[in-house]
Amino acid sequence: MTDHLTDHRRLGRELELFGTDPLIGAGLPYWLPDGAAVRHSLEEYVRDVERKAGYRHVYSPVLGKREMYEISGHWAHYRDDMFPPMDLGGEQVVLRPSLCPHHAVMFRSRARGYRELPYRMAELGPMYRAELSGVLGGLTRVRAIQLNDAHVFCTLDQVGEEAAAALGLIRRAYADLGIEAARFRLSLPGGGGKYVADPGMWRRAEAMLTEVLDASGLEYEPAEGEAAFYGPKIDVQVADPAGRESTLSTVQVDFHQPERFDLSYIGPDGARHRPVMVHRAIIGSVERAVAHLIEAHAGAFPAWLAPLQLVALPVTDQEVPAALELVRRCAERGLRADLADPSRGTLGARIREARLVPYQAVIGPREAVDSLAAPRLRDGRRPGALPVPELVDRVAAVAASRSHELWA
Ligand SMILES: [Zn+2]
Repeated sequence: MTDHLTDHRRLGRELELFGTDPLIGAGLPYWLPDGAAVRHSLEEYVRDVERKAGYRHVYSPVLGKREMYEISGHWAHYRDDMFPPMDLGGEQVVLRPSLCPHHAVMFRSRARGYRELPYRMAELGPMYRAELSGVLGGLTRVRAIQLNDAHVFCTLDQVGEEAAAALGLIRRAYADLGIEAARFRLSLPGGGGKYVADPGMWRRAEAMLTEVLDASGLEYEPAEGEAAFYGPKIDVQVADPAGRESTLSTVQVDFHQPERFDLSYIGPDGARHRPVMVHRAIIGSVERAVAHLIEAHAGAFPAWLAPLQLVALPVTDQEVPAALELVRRCAERGLRADLADPSRGTLGARIREARLVPYQAVIGPREAVDSLAAPRLRDGRRPGALPVPELVDRVAAVAASRSHELWA
């Protein structure tokens, strides 16, 4: 059960994407160069999509005073999942369990007018969760999380459109990443005291999310006991190859934190009004997203995400300079390319070793003389030798378009 064929932990080790070490600590994975390349491409993608959708990016510190989490409600409702506070000069600071309070405080850093709304604040930032060591493993249960978070501060009238737009971003990202949602879930409160109490607020938020889901045409199911402590949410569930589900993306409507942090904007009437916060994560945590991508593609990432996009394969030592020239041209275009020279084995062995690389460019004596390369695609196709600059153009175009088709 633990070592399924496409288990991301096994592939992560084999492909040298990430690892853990008892000396660093359980649930604290590190990223090796190939894993870091995938993560970097993913983060750049998210920032690009968010910029185009009108989000502005910020940075906020990974620590905050305990008092801030008392105000937000995390301290009362979420303390068991938080790291213990650190005493510092008579104050207590904690590793943050979410980015929301920082963003709320940043929104109120000056007066806001209604024309600034919706104000879309995004951050790919770290947060920490005190998971018990017994449940840690790979990238799916970690104590340090890089969250793709954003908060839209808006009027009540704008909530529907903003939540629907966020759901649209999620669906588009899944298409670009080549992953599928297993289920859309409307997560509602359950029994027990872990939720903030204001029945009117919950009903309103729930009605808004229901409307967004109904208008989207998506099938969804309500799930009791899965809401955040401050409000209901839309959860996008993905399944691993063994069928185990987890939440990757969310959209939440929140009336609670704007109240707690006394957020306001000046309306057209000149009076102060309370904004609503829409929390949303397109790919959720980078760790969980990469774990899912590894399993969904069994390590054969779309070209734009692949750690190594092209491998240059000189047939003999004579063609090494021509192969290096191809690698240099790729690097110049921002592509990730590498040389696999004859010292690393026969041509057949080197091709097998590079089976997950989207483009394997073979350069024999004839190709070297004419500055050509003969590409072999990961899917087995062999389009025939072509001039090196043309090959680089084609690979760069596929990567830039984030197409899943290797040869257009
Ligand atoms: Zn949030």
